[in-house]
Amino acid sequence: MLIDFHAHIGRVSQERKESLEASQIISRLDEWGIDKACVLALSETPEGNYLEADTEDVLRECSHFPKRLIPFCLIDPRFGLNSPDMDFTFLLEEYVARGCRGIGELLPKMSIDDPRCLNLFHQAGRFKLPVVIDLHSRPVSYGLEDAPGLPGLERVLRVCPETIIVGHGPTFWAEISGQVSAEERQGYPSGPVKPGGAVPRLMKTYPNLFADLSAGSGYNALTRDLSFGLDFLEAFQDKLLFGTDYCVRSHTRNEVKIIDFFHRLKQEKLISLDAWEKIAWKNAARLLNYDRKN
Ligand SMILES: [Zn+2]
Repeated sequence: MLIDFHAHIGRVSQERKESLEASQIISRLDEWGIDKACVLALSETPEGNYLEADTEDVLRECSHFPKRLIPFCLIDPRFGLNSPDMDFTFLLEEYVARGCRGIGELLPKMSIDDPRCLNLFHQAGRFKLPVVIDLHSRPVSYGLEDAPGLPGLERVLRVCPETIIVGHGPTFWAEISGQVSAEERQGYPSGPVKPGGAVPRLMKTYPNLFADLSAGSGYNALTRDLSFGLDFLEAFQDKLLFGTDYCVRSHTRNEVKIIDFFHRLKQEKLISLDAWEKIAWKNAARLLNYDRKN
């Protein structure tokens, strides 16, 4: 069993005018040996509307393949009153009733511990919905922001203990290492991981921090220093989630490098089978409360 915790539908509206529909995700899942995928919404947040897929699009597409696709909803923290007191209960109740199992992908250009974000995180916790966050540094025009060492994320984890946060994105993954430069926080750092990284420290300290392995940033973090990466997978086997962030129709298997890497981990016994199974699907099933309905 393999669950992709991070997939998308929609149209990439900048250079590549390609629209990705549920049926196309399904054929890729079949080709890549993936059983189920969480489909994340983006365009409730203006900074994320390049994929042109909001919660309604996600719900509609997922409804064509209810055994394979798991819908996530998205609420922009600025929606409604643009205030830290906005009550999102009416939306969360509706989305949960319609089958949403998580919130994401959350990527407004705001500080991660902005009071409006904290408000959304609190309410997500009340509904037991894990929140997939994207951390990106400027000049990228989207993505939550945090200072070096991730003090804002730490504050979120501390004040919202009921909320599962799923880390993702270049700035998050750059912080797997200590002594991260501003340039490294914007991209895909190479070379050995230095001790003292914020991500391992926070993963160890806070039970509510998880991470998905998706995108170039997840793959890069695990493979830039392979022996560190393998130890990291083993150490945090209860809190890591396989994912692709596959969002462009023309992406080939070679471009979505995490897929072959993840299969290799099992074939070549690079990590324990127990750890592999948890990262492949057991942790996801637990977060999605998947056993309840399937
Ligand atoms: Zn994504």
